[in-house]
Amino acid sequence: MLNEATIGAFRASLHGGLIEPGDPAYEAARKVYNGMIERRPRLIARCADVADVVAAVKFGREQKILVAIRGGGHNAGGLGVCDDGLVIDLSAMNYVRVDPKKKTVLVGGGALWRDVDHATHAFGLAVPAGIISTTGVAGLTLGGGIGYLSRRYGLTIDNLLAVEMVLADGRFVTANAKENADLFWAVRGGGGNFGVVTSFLFKAQDVHTVYGGPMLWTMEDAAEILRWYRTFITKAPGDVYGFFAFLTVPPVAPFPAALHGKKMCGIVWCYTGPIKKAEKVFKPIRKMKTPALDMVGPIPYPALQSMHDGLYPPGLQWYWKADFVRALPDEAIALHVKHAAKLPSGHSTMHLYPINGAAGRIKNNATPWGYRDATWSSVIVGVDPDPANNEKISAWAKEYWSALHPYSAGGGYVNFMMEEGEDRIRATYGKNYDRLAKVKKRYDPGNLFRVNQNIKPK
Ligand SMILES: Cc1cc2nc3c(=O)[nH]c(=O)nc-3n(C[C@H](O)[C@H](O)[C@H](O)COP(=O)(O)OP(=O)(O)OC[C@H]3O[C@@H](n4cnc5c(N)ncnc54)[C@H](O)[C@@H]3O)c2cc1C
Repeated sequence: MLNEATIGAFRASLHGGLIEPGDPAYEAARKVYNGMIERRPRLIARCADVADVVAAVKFGREQKILVAIRGGGHNAGGLGVCDDGLVIDLSAMNYVRVDPKKKTVLVGGGALWRDVDHATHAFGLAVPAGIISTTGVAGLTLGGGIGYLSRRYGLTIDNLLAVEMVLADGRFVTANAKENADLFWAVRGGGGNFGVVTSFLFKAQDVHTVYGGPMLWTMEDAAEILRWYRTFITKAPGDVYGFFAFLTVPPVAPFPAALHGKKMCGIVWCYTGPIKKAEKVFKPIRKMKTPALDMVGPIPYPALQSMHDGLYPPGLQWYWKADFVRALPDEAIALHVKHAAKLPSGHSTMHLYPINGAAGRIKNNATPWGYRDATWSSVIVGVDPDPANNEKISAWAKEYWSALHPYSAGGGYVNFMMEEGEDRIRATYGKNYDRLAKVKKRYDPGNLFRVNQNIKPK
């Protein structure tokens, strides 16, 4: 049982702060990005440094309370927070140190991608990440990391050189290709199962100004665009990335008023080849079918990364469903068009993220991320500001996903899933699951870190 003296001693051991229910900071500190998640932890340890993380892990283990780890707080299922237990909150550990000579970046375990993009851009560098800059580096990386640079430079984990971690027994270790190599293998897709990552060392890539942005077409053109896209993206060179989306045009500038509120399909592009060649590369794309809206042009990489941030502020209600997809037969395309026509709210969307190219050239067992042979990672999200619409947006996402799941490869990307049970986690890791379970047993035999897509120690 927690008592005031125990909590007092813990508080005194922290360089950062300890937040409890009733504290002025509590309500803001317990909230995560997904407004559908309402959890009330007993304690939130806002760690300032590694020593604080060691103290927090020790406290959680000795007091036998549920422990959640929070990086950016963006997780689909709200796995950065728990009821009643202890949240180890790393948001204050958000430093980013770029080494322009070595082209490496050292990032604190609580940084957001916008922190990294800002710091690296000054040196003409970027680390492959996701498509929203407010997402946490930690959760996105530990789950894999899909984004605009995946086809050229691989997933985020393919650019990870090392991590420093606090393990369940309180030890502080480095994991890289040579040191604790089994742990390094496991953290590249196995999520927050193995310990608290206090820093990430990434390889950075030469990316500065790209040619990107959205191209939109009408829903009437959607089947034709998808049929063209399924072939195009499997043959396109690695410096061309484009994810497909169904969406409702937001009722704000710079979108033209005539399109506000209209359901459309689109491709959001990111070309990282020489800018002077971009117009030529995009000529056949524009010729294939003139877009109803074409916002593609030269843009600094961080601006593309943060382009959607304002449209998706924290606190919206989100219901997620995901799958990996190898092929898009005509029947699947027809189902996509049917369900997308019923997008239940302005923020709801479906994305098909390409994971071929460089990301697909890695072996399925080289990291736990076992669907390297898939072409896309698909995500269907019902999103709305009003909790009264939760049933409506969830039902739409479930129905859409159920219709398309038979055409999928089996599992889904862990970072796009809510809490969906052990079978789904096993399906996602496939043949890599048993190896993950062994590493889990070695580093966290008591399953202290279980507020995640949990791998049971075996
Ligand atoms: C709007 C939006 C857009 C997104 N776009 C993309 C995208 O383009 N590409 C993509 O790949 N993903 C994307 N995601 C998914 C994203 O990768 C996951 O939500 C991810 O879990 C977020 O990481 P976080 O650190 O913000 O999450 P948190 O909620 O803080 O944590 C998520 C999980 O990671 C664990 N964890 C967090 N920090 C640590 C740490 N320091 N050490 C150990 N474990 C830790 C937690 O225990 C938890 O299980 C998006 C999510 C949102 C909400």
